[in-house]
Amino acid sequence: MTAVSETDLPYLRRCVELAAEALDAGDWPFGSVLVGADGEIRAEDRNRESATGDPTAHPEFELARWAARHLTPEERAAATVYTSGEHCPMCAAAHGWVGLGRIVYASSSRQARDWKAEWGVPVTSPLSPLTVQDVVPGLEVAGPVPELAAQVRELQWRFRTGKGGGDVRP
Ligand SMILES: [Zn+2]
Repeated sequence: MTAVSETDLPYLRRCVELAAEALDAGDWPFGSVLVGADGEIRAEDRNRESATGDPTAHPEFELARWAARHLTPEERAAATVYTSGEHCPMCAAAHGWVGLGRIVYASSSRQARDWKAEWGVPVTSPLSPLTVQDVVPGLEVAGPVPELAAQVRELQWRFRTGKGGGDVRP
């Protein structure tokens, strides 16, 4: 586990913006960006599960597949993926398979579980609650960031209350 640096924060804020866009569109509030070694945002996406009816339409999964199609193995290894909420085990596996580099998240899966417990939301994920490092040992991971995690929590709460009882990953 490494620290989140000042350099990381603008990208994490963009992830939270994308999560808010997803919420406005009726999707789960999650967003992610892929940044190259030069600091340029190469790709970004938000959750599209409701829009597509596809439970695998997570932004981290889309970015892993985008990277496989558009980046060399060297570029993937040097890239950083920022995300509003820690990768679920499916997305962590995709990230590992395509050989992407560091992951930085605004809020952790552990926090998401704690929020659900606090809100009395049952756990409905079919996956084991593995961390990114459980799935991809040795990967450099940083997060959460308390101030941004609080914003993600608010978006999750709005999604849940706005939908009258949606779920919160993981
Ligand atoms: Zn995922």
